[in-house]
Amino acid sequence: MSLGQLYVISAPSGAGKTSLVKRLTDSDPLIKVSVSTTTRPPRPGEVDGVNYHFTDVETFKQEVAQGDFLEWAEVFGNYYGTQQSQVARLLEQGFDVILEIDWQGAQQVREKIPGTQSIFIVPPSLEELERRLIGRGTDAPEVIARRLSEAKDEMRHYPEFDYLVINDDFDVAFEELHTIFKANRLRTERQQARHGAILDALVK
Ligand code: 5GP
Repeated sequence: MSLGQLYVISAPSGAGKTSLVKRLTDSDPLIKVSVSTTTRPPRPGEVDGVNYHFTDVETFKQEVAQGDFLEWAEVFGNYYGTQQSQVARLLEQGFDVILEIDWQGAQQVREKIPGTQSIFIVPPSLEELERRLIGRGTDAPEVIARRLSEAKDEMRHYPEFDYLVINDDFDVAFEELHTIFKANRLRTERQQARHGAILDALVK
């Protein structure tokens, strides 16, 4: 068993997933987030190698053929994928690793890596989701309208996930999310992986 735990976090666009994950990685040095590869063009302010590895369709397909991706999917007409090597390295180093991916990717990872913990984040209402998508101001109105209807499709998959967080109050949602990570670190098999010597000495 690797020292770190793999997490998949999915949410409809606008539920606050990226902000919550950023707060997690800022406040807990044991948590790292995997940087996905995408063929989507960067939004204003997004940095290559930080938010995503931005690439073109041809290169993406080549990497799929090479088996570089742990999972990949087409979302909103663009390709997104998780680089296998990056995730394996972080897990071996003992980090809890978050994949911020859609429900299709979550299904692939669950099948490939048993023991993956999956978390779904929802907004408190459709009205609030729309307000947040408009407030973000980065997408064109027709993109927002499409994302709202696709959000409903994404949210139908929430029962497939191990944990569900409702992001109404940001601070409360953050605490709930962090609790999942802290509790999982205390699972007996994880404690054995991290503190094997101490435990062996106690029961020898
Ligand atoms: P956005 O373009 O808004 O950053 O992301 C759109 C959707 O793609 C979100 O649902 C996000 O979770 C998903 N996504 C981002 N990276 C990946 C990835 O590596 N794999 C998969 N399957 N989905 C991803």
